[in-house]
Amino acid sequence: MKRLFIDIPALLASGAAVNQIQCEYMYHRKNDGALNLLEVAEFASYCRRCEDAFCIAACPKDALERLETGVLKRWNMRCVGCKSCALACPFGTIFIEVMNYISSKCDLCLNQLADDPDYQPLCVRTAPAGCFQMAEVAEEPARYVFFVGEHLAVKSPSWLVKEGKL
Ligand code: SF4
Ligand code: SF4
Repeated sequence: MKRLFIDIPALLASGAAVNQIQCEYMYHRKNDGALNLLEVAEFASYCRRCEDAFCIAACPKDALERLETGVLKRWNMRCVGCKSCALACPFGTIFIEVMNYISSKCDLCLNQLADDPDYQPLCVRTAPAGCFQMAEVAEEPARYVFFVGEHLAVKSPSWLVKEGKL
């Protein structure tokens, strides 16, 4: 199955301004391109997926839940922006920028892909070549390739960089 694959090291190496990567999602209050998608993808690879997650316990509104994939999901409509989870995380992986309230965001162009499996979303067409792709990818943690839910994959060694291991 094809997934949207984002190669973050390639994107950083390209030097491209990420706000120039366009998005066709029609319900953005202001089209901030693929920024929101990059945030989701990066957060999923930063999070250490703690067994007893402090962030989930700290949230007074039950806005954080762990999905079956192990990835943490924040339910925007429950979040009141109190930032308790950001304070509770011992690794500092939830930072304030992740806690925006924008609920209009990437829908992974699932409707267009249902009509045409070879569809190329606008972000793929406007990102530097190879940085965003619709591709068959395997999850390979040894190569820093992680699945984020069913339709997205991201290559990001971010937390290794953060810990000075890469
Ligand atoms: S997959 Fe579609 S909705 Fe998501 S960022 Fe790309 S163009 Fe926008
Ligand atoms: S965000 Fe922090 S506390 Fe929450 S699961 Fe991830 S690493 Fe653990």
